[in-house]
Amino acid sequence: MVNQIVFIIEVIIAFGLLTFSFYRILKYIKLTRSHSLGPLGKRLVKTLSVAIFQTKIFRRPVLGFFHALVFWGFCVILFGSLEMMVDGISGNENSFKFFGPIYPIFRSIIDIFTYLVFISVVIFLFRRLFLHVKRFSGIEMKHKSHVDANIALTLILLLMVSLIGINVFSSLMVPETAKNSYPISSRLAALFSFSDSASITTGYLINWWSHISLIFIFMNILPYSKHFHVFMSVPNVFFSRLEPLGKLPNMDNITNEVKSMMDPGFVPESIPSTSELARFGVKDIEDVTWKNYLDSLSCTQCGRCTSSCPANITGKKLSPRKIMMDVRARMKEKGPHMLKEGKQFNDNRSLLHNFISTEEIWACTTCNACAQECPVNINHPEMIVFLRRYLVMEESAAPSGLNIMFTNIENNGAPWQFSPEDRMLWAKDIS
Ligand code: SF4
Ligand code: SF4
Repeated sequence: MVNQIVFIIEVIIAFGLLTFSFYRILKYIKLTRSHSLGPLGKRLVKTLSVAIFQTKIFRRPVLGFFHALVFWGFCVILFGSLEMMVDGISGNENSFKFFGPIYPIFRSIIDIFTYLVFISVVIFLFRRLFLHVKRFSGIEMKHKSHVDANIALTLILLLMVSLIGINVFSSLMVPETAKNSYPISSRLAALFSFSDSASITTGYLINWWSHISLIFIFMNILPYSKHFHVFMSVPNVFFSRLEPLGKLPNMDNITNEVKSMMDPGFVPESIPSTSELARFGVKDIEDVTWKNYLDSLSCTQCGRCTSSCPANITGKKLSPRKIMMDVRARMKEKGPHMLKEGKQFNDNRSLLHNFISTEEIWACTTCNACAQECPVNINHPEMIVFLRRYLVMEESAAPSGLNIMFTNIENNGAPWQFSPEDRMLWAKDIS
């Protein structure tokens, strides 16, 4: 009974803190602009393919395989964690036994995946600590980013060690059925020679409490870590764009204005709210859409985008990973003040200029290699184009080459520097 009460208090604290973190993020999301979604069916297909079957991660087959093992392992192990939660609250053991003959099958799959995740995480940690992988470095990758990644991986490793402990001691408690439920741990248990049941129970309880406490700590660290993608990657893929990557979203208010100039009878489908009209493009965090912000929360900082970016490869200042990290950092900086003092809060700083420089955004070729490579379907070029739109439409600060083109389009209806009447001059001598 005491154990149950302690456990219930732990659950209330852990889920209370997690709810608070999500509530704060939801409030930040409310500070951003709207974003329209397409059909649901296609989204489910995309989520299954990219998030559940991890198709994009396999572009780098070896490490992709280990990463996919960790993801699938988490999904499988979640079943065991839910059972532990029910056990802890109810004071029972093996609460999901009502699944009957498939219960030992679930248990054995969890046991196998525990070792697969353990091995994968050891490889990831070794790689991060000793191999100095190029894509893990960059101007945006500060010491804190590396510490953050190492803490998260260490916590996952400890989670797997304690789970292995639970399975090994469970095998020792019920040796007659252990082989069916714990195919690997039961063999490992055979190496131990605990003779008294008290030591076995103590070993089991130590691992059980360590594992569940680590789960509670880990899930509350995630919202403040780069590993937040553990929660956010599936929803981010679900909400990712369905149109081809090269298609840029139009600005509805501009499209409507042009259409009504061409056709006086034109009636817009929807009229943007005053707040939506406040600014063209993106200058600061309140101008991004909730999907842009979701992208920034889902970024794993893996660097696949930056390592495939032609601008970055050729030595330009642009790093698409940095763009996403900057969006998250700016919301972290300005969001709390906006919540307290309202959206009009001004700290004389902005996402553009103070976090992201014009040099970075004009270095982009909009080739979409970053968005193509991103395993969680983040769309960096969209964000970059939004920032450019602000510069061009609000600050008239396009590079000089583009300004000439804009003037030509305005005056001549074409990017070239000659009048429309002269268009056919090239053909005047052709009879
Ligand atoms: S779209 Fe821009 S940021 Fe993305 S890879 Fe191409 S050049 Fe780099
Ligand atoms: S934006 Fe995507 S590819 Fe780039 S670092 Fe983040 S998760 Fe990795």
